[in-house]
Amino acid sequence: MEVIGPYDVVVVGGGLAGLRAAIEVKRLGATVLVIAKSHPLRSHSSAAEGGIAAYIEGASDPRDSPLQHAYDTVKGSDWLADQDAVELMTRDAERAIIELEKWGCLFSRDQEGRIARRPFGGHTYPRTRFAADKTGMCLLHTVFERALAEGVEMLYEFYVTDLVSDKERVYGVYGFDLRSGVDYFIKSKAVVMATGGGGLMYKFSTNSYLNSGDGYAIAARAGAKLADMEFIQFHPTALYPTNILITEAARGEGGYLINKEGERFMKRYAPERMELAPRDVVARAIVNEIKEGRGFEGGYVLLDLTHLGEAKIMERLPLVREVAMKFAKVDPVKEPIPVRPAAHYTMGGIKTDLDGATNVKGLFAAGEAACVSVHGANRLGSNSLLETLVFGRRAGMAAAAYAKDRGYMEPPKEAVKEAEARLWAPTTLETGLKFGDLRKKVGEIMWEHVGIERNEEGLKKAVEELTNLYRLTKSLSASGGPGAYELMAAHETINMIMNALATAQAALWRTESRGAHYRIDYPKRDNENWLVHTIMTWKGGWELSKEPVTITRWPPEERKY
Ligand SMILES: Cc1cc2nc3c(=O)[nH]c(=O)nc-3n(C[C@H](O)[C@H](O)[C@H](O)COP(=O)(O)OP(=O)(O)OC[C@H]3O[C@@H](n4cnc5c(N)ncnc54)[C@H](O)[C@@H]3O)c2cc1C
Repeated sequence: MEVIGPYDVVVVGGGLAGLRAAIEVKRLGATVLVIAKSHPLRSHSSAAEGGIAAYIEGASDPRDSPLQHAYDTVKGSDWLADQDAVELMTRDAERAIIELEKWGCLFSRDQEGRIARRPFGGHTYPRTRFAADKTGMCLLHTVFERALAEGVEMLYEFYVTDLVSDKERVYGVYGFDLRSGVDYFIKSKAVVMATGGGGLMYKFSTNSYLNSGDGYAIAARAGAKLADMEFIQFHPTALYPTNILITEAARGEGGYLINKEGERFMKRYAPERMELAPRDVVARAIVNEIKEGRGFEGGYVLLDLTHLGEAKIMERLPLVREVAMKFAKVDPVKEPIPVRPAAHYTMGGIKTDLDGATNVKGLFAAGEAACVSVHGANRLGSNSLLETLVFGRRAGMAAAAYAKDRGYMEPPKEAVKEAEARLWAPTTLETGLKFGDLRKKVGEIMWEHVGIERNEEGLKKAVEELTNLYRLTKSLSASGGPGAYELMAAHETINMIMNALATAQAALWRTESRGAHYRIDYPKRDNENWLVHTIMTWKGGWELSKEPVTITRWPPEERKY
């Protein structure tokens, strides 16, 4: 074991949230190290396509405002988002965009030269800012360059297995260098978890292979509370059959959804907003069309962009065209694209306050790893990139302030030993049970029983099967040493199973339908019993409780689009 540090702050994750946090820590004069299991530029943030939502004075619809953006977000969340967090985010959006622009981000422009905007699902006015359909790539490169310019230290291809904690306070992180296979204890006064989402636990997912949701399981093992893990967003339009995302911008720019009968079926589900209803509504509509026999053989519908014309497609949606041509042999200029829903985004996460602080001292979280909560039961598209920048910065600020106020405290010896033992456990076994066998099963169980439509019978089955799989993880074997990618995959699988179990258990517990959580046996929203966050703590198994939702201005209304 190598020991390095102490740092004031260690940030786990090199995506937008992590890098934005690190920049802030550095600017406040504290020492900071960013750790990522990939190169930071390969983080899933780079895959974001459609855009980032913000009201900008002078470059918005005159009827729009940060408050209107906040209301749309609360309605989109089916009233489960904390309204103080939402208001804070939408008020800070303009600053976040202008900052990026000053750092050199090349946003697309409108005819007057202002930062352009496009319509997005659930947003009353067009306010999604973009760089063609490669927005995430543009943002991440900009923030990465800024982090380098500020002198932020980074450690790539380093996998964090655990936090070193006594369940009350963190003392640093534990993990190993993937290339050398050497394990490290990195001492730190504060840690920011910015490890991204966990969509990979579903058989069909738009997420990258990095998105095993390590941060949720790691933080929970260290004593942090998770919130709202039952709420998983299914994106309506993933390319059939590879599940590569076809951005919502395709509908924002005017694309239609068509069933086998050539009908724009959204008129039955969201007559006003049509294809631009929120994602939960559109995904369920597609599933219903397929269930009622109006889908195509194999289970998909069509996304038609042909009426937009080649010039607009090439200017605004070049990646959509490239992906459709390469992976489905379809040219969207000439023919519609086959699409179906796939798991996309984790609304729940590590429970934090408005400054990213968790219930464990010194532990902060931001981005998709965190649940502040601004997305509630359903995230509006283009709000997540905004969340990474707004709350990444705040978490960085709070972590730096926390670290500056105190000296480094040594951890209890057992805490380090426990982390070390967990890291190597898979390499000491010879059971022959490989991570790949379990990983595939998780994906199937989650897709079949904890998917877009859920019911008690399926959820009970999922909990039972996942509980068995979790038991089996104790006999998971993997080789260590240099190039220890197999050991990483084993740990990712353990984390995925813990997260999957959290999602299934919370979904079974919540006997109502709200946003993306749709129970066919409880199809109605139940504000009397369930206008609450689901809180989960890990005690070798998950324990569940409820906490109230913060309502500032908008009591629940009927949610119609
Ligand atoms: C295909 C796609 C398109 C999207 N499009 C949009 C969009 O247009 N607009 C929008 O608002 N949102 C979009 N989203 C969502 C949005 O991109 C993400 O929610 C957001 O970028 C997450 O950023 P993050 O910084 O929290 O995490 P990520 O960018 O996922 O970064 C996570 C980081 O953590 C590191 N990491 C994870 N686990 C470990 C570990 N155990 N040890 C060490 N390092 C670790 C990874 O290496 C990575 O660097 C999209 C998502 C997808 C999948």
